[in-house]
Amino acid sequence: MKKPVRVTITGAAGQISYSLIFRIASGSMLGPDQPVILQLLEITPALPALNGVVMELNDCAFPLVAGVIATDKLEEAFDKTDYALLVGARPRGPGMERKDLLTANGGIFGPQGKALSDYASRDVKVLVVGNPANTNALIAASAAKSLDPKQFTAMVRLDHNRALSQLASKTGTHSNDIEKMIIWGNHSSTQYPDITNTLVNGKAAKGLVDQNWIETDFIPTVQQRGAAIIKARGASSAASAASAAVDHMRDWALGTNGKWVSMGIPSDGSYGIKPGIVYGYPVTVKDGKYEIVQGLEVDAFSRGKMDATEQELREERAAIEELLK
Ligand code: NDP
Repeated sequence: MKKPVRVTITGAAGQISYSLIFRIASGSMLGPDQPVILQLLEITPALPALNGVVMELNDCAFPLVAGVIATDKLEEAFDKTDYALLVGARPRGPGMERKDLLTANGGIFGPQGKALSDYASRDVKVLVVGNPANTNALIAASAAKSLDPKQFTAMVRLDHNRALSQLASKTGTHSNDIEKMIIWGNHSSTQYPDITNTLVNGKAAKGLVDQNWIETDFIPTVQQRGAAIIKARGASSAASAASAAVDHMRDWALGTNGKWVSMGIPSDGSYGIKPGIVYGYPVTVKDGKYEIVQGLEVDAFSRGKMDATEQELREERAAIEELLK
């Protein structure tokens, strides 16, 4: 058995975490031979509920769980952590403007970024799930002065998986048969699910579906899937969000063997997206490092969609610019 690694989960008594913690504990994220110490963070009023989650976790008697810490203290939650999944966030309240939501979340993700910088492993990998995920990741990265901003990522993997599922259903195939899907930009309704380069059983997806379906069905369905689930279930997606978080971290930790996946990462000028935001890109991962897939053609349709989601992220950034100093 390997030496245990430390995994931090924030918002650990929430809906997503109720699925996520048990998937990680069972070995789905880091493999069946990797023990984990789970460091669970909650706000003080949620500690009794978190205690209930810990009781259930203990009752599972998971062979890979080498320790559990439940706390409301950042320094304990992030101490020497190797993987941090930042799930807890401030939900939008009635009448709350986007700027208020962004600022309220700045008050959470700024201190968490600083605590990661002060206490985490120097190689920590951070995934932000809590919304607005891309901009929360930007705030955390900016506050983490002693870490590389590339250690901070945002989750667009649920959008990626939703896009695979929609295309598989349309083409009568399985998501395993699909390669080279891309989600560009923000984890919001401006995201751009792009099948320009996608292959289905080795054939160009664009030759199997028509442009009208892409524009009026596929893209809006993927963009609005969260709302459709709330309508159907009476609650927001939680298990699928947790599953996507597991996929994102597993691929970052263990590699993708050349497979493309989508990750929200600091923009570096690739594809004309100037630095300064956290933007969804196609990446491959090797030896714990992700690299943007380069050299793709961008047609006028894609350019418009990529610029629109960039514009939204620049506006989000402008709303919290003072928090980045
Ligand atoms: P969830 O566990 O359902 O959601 C947590 C966050 O994930 C929200 O910001 C949510 O965004 C976001 N999210 C990202 N992608 C998705 C997706 N596809 N579907 C649904 N959500 C998505 O929220 P709960 O309210 O159940 O739990 C949050 C917990 O966080 C609470 O227990 C609270 O006490 C805690 N919290 C902890 C903090 C901390 O540890 N310091 C700080 C703040 C809160 P959206 O709101 O847009 O649905």
